[in-house]
Amino acid sequence: MGGGQDRLMDRFPHVPERLSGLVDLAYNLWWSWHPEARVLFKQINQQAWKKSIHNPVKMLQEIPREFLDSVLSNPEYLRRYDIIMNRFSRYMANNNRWFSEQYPRGRSLTIAYFSAEYGLHHSLPFYAGGLGFLAGDHLKECSDLGIPLVAVGFMYSEGYLHQHIRPDGWQDNITEVLDRDAAPITRVLKASGDQMVVQVPFIEPPIHVAVWKVNVGKIPLYLLDTDIPANSLENRTISHRLYAEQTEQRLKQEIVLGIGGRKVLSDLGIDFSALHLNEGHPVFAQLERIRERVATGMSFAAAFNQVKGTAVFTTHTPVPAGTDIFPRDLMRKYFSGYYHQLGIDEKTFFDLGLHPCDPNDGFNMTAFALRLTRFHNAVSKKHGEVAREMWRCLWPDLPVQDIPIDHITNGVHIPTWLNPRMEILYSKYFSSVDPQWQQNRDNPEIWQMVDEIPDKALWEEHIWLKQKLFNRIREKKRIKWGSQLNEPGNLVAEGLMLNPSVLTLGFARRFSAYKRADLIFYDRARLRRILNNPWRPVQIIFAGKAHPADNEGKEILQRIYEFAQQPEFGGRIGFVEDYGEQMAQYLVHGVDVWMNNPIPPMEACGTSGMKASLNGVLNLSILDGWWIEGYNGRNGWAFEGDPSPASRDASDAAALYTLLEKEVVPLYYSASLDGIPHGWVRMMKETIKNTSAAFSARRMVKEYVTRYYPSLLACAEKECPVLKGS
Ligand SMILES: *Cc1c(COP(=O)(O)O)cnc(C)c1O
Repeated sequence: MGGGQDRLMDRFPHVPERLSGLVDLAYNLWWSWHPEARVLFKQINQQAWKKSIHNPVKMLQEIPREFLDSVLSNPEYLRRYDIIMNRFSRYMANNNRWFSEQYPRGRSLTIAYFSAEYGLHHSLPFYAGGLGFLAGDHLKECSDLGIPLVAVGFMYSEGYLHQHIRPDGWQDNITEVLDRDAAPITRVLKASGDQMVVQVPFIEPPIHVAVWKVNVGKIPLYLLDTDIPANSLENRTISHRLYAEQTEQRLKQEIVLGIGGRKVLSDLGIDFSALHLNEGHPVFAQLERIRERVATGMSFAAAFNQVKGTAVFTTHTPVPAGTDIFPRDLMRKYFSGYYHQLGIDEKTFFDLGLHPCDPNDGFNMTAFALRLTRFHNAVSKKHGEVAREMWRCLWPDLPVQDIPIDHITNGVHIPTWLNPRMEILYSKYFSSVDPQWQQNRDNPEIWQMVDEIPDKALWEEHIWLKQKLFNRIREKKRIKWGSQLNEPGNLVAEGLMLNPSVLTLGFARRFSAYKRADLIFYDRARLRRILNNPWRPVQIIFAGKAHPADNEGKEILQRIYEFAQQPEFGGRIGFVEDYGEQMAQYLVHGVDVWMNNPIPPMEACGTSGMKASLNGVLNLSILDGWWIEGYNGRNGWAFEGDPSPASRDASDAAALYTLLEKEVVPLYYSASLDGIPHGWVRMMKETIKNTSAAFSARRMVKEYVTRYYPSLLACAEKECPVLKGS
């Protein structure tokens, strides 16, 4: 495999040789899902760890040598260090896991995974939401399972918008420019020692990309960066931000990700056999694969068949508006020098992106993705139904149930999202039946052992995590108060008065209108009665960002912020600023109830509810996305959405209030003499028991591997079947 790497130790001359493993560890996100590895950094100096915002690269850069020297003389530290570094080396060397047992010959067959975003850790802010976290969890789980995957994405250097709420409740966005040298990324180098830079082939005007790498356990993730001097000023901005709003810029992003991404892997000598496309943004990679084959003399039809036969496409959006459609003139501008290389004429090229039922004759990226891939899947059972209906026009001869769009329901990476304290508690009981239970975390039987955890132990752990969330919120407010950015009313709106002994609902996700963050305010008087009940009060924590161009989302946010300041709600509503990976961790561990009420069927999946459930946080959700599969009548609460647009907000809000008044609130406050609400704890156990395995990324990745990857790999190795559509 080509492409060298920076000599990392050279950058940390003050790190003693004895501790040089810390540098390798800092540059591999493996540490982020192994709490015992995290402790190695934290133990050196807690303040430095905090100041780096839990970014070990930054911490090692900033920490004075004396602190490193002091742990050198601490035998306890060194003992831990040696054990953990050993564990890390064994993990990295061990390729003999599940995948190689399944496919003994699969060892040499690499799978490539392309995605426009990855949610891995907050020190790599290359994500917007669910799609990104799904991709990040996919990589981590593939690493754990020993699946030979390489990933490609963007390095968004100005991609991260921090949310600051103005005193009037309007969202301001503060751009964080990524400090490339303090992030856990390394330059991919050429033999000459310079950073690898690739020109996107046959695209005019030319675009160049520099290549970076992130180690996600055993999985290399290559990141594309156009902000380099070789590019025009305009092209330098291509990789600045996620999902450019301007159509032309958006097209250029997708050209860079697909065609540029494929070229990078080729130049690195990575010859992957199968391609997994996460959403339609990277599908141009398929064109580049065809072009490479045509360049060696293969016919377009044969190349198309082979490339199609080795690719799977995961669709995430349940709405037609979620698809990119590029105007023909714009496509011509960039591709007129390209499609000839494929051995086809302009009409054949444009037909690949045609949506026969859409009068808009632009280039439809989802239609294109569906034509160019062999397998297609939605991300939940319900979303599968919606997607088949949405795209049936592409298969006019098939009845809707036979439209070849399947589903694999998303799952979450358990070591990332299960709180370490909860993990220790579960482990105490699970280990007695399976000491290796973490390796079998997708086995539902193991989770039945949750029943053996004493109610008191589970409840106390939950309360501890709840307390931690509240401390975190207050501490953030205290700092903001000290920086004089706040008026007293803002502190109230941002959660200063929240009380950890009160039943707490959490609502945190992107503020898109369809998610209806403000639904619970539909009947203010009724909500007021629920929150201000003197014997059984309720409070709500909101968090989430609106897309910078989404004024409707910002207005919803502002409305909630104003409500939060109203004395009528008694300080029982808090809006927490700047929802991101870190805040999500606190919230999914620490609230009592995770609430979700989008307009069905707009929530394709909704993975945050799975993260909550894994930690014993109960879901109260409309029946949409994953909850249709996850809800079993005993593990939380569900209500059917009203399908009629005229009445749905009123009746959905009423359903929500009724559940709160009649079920959620009474159950929470019906503690026994020992102070423990046993009915509630029973429900917590029910949800941990019956959702954790089924909605784990391990179950999901195994499904991809067993259902799709073997056929794709067979097609790469041997003959492909002749597929329709070529
Ligand atoms: C898990 C996660 C998401 C996706 O969950 P949804 O339920 O789709 O909102 C979004 N943002 C963050 C920070 C997450 O951790």
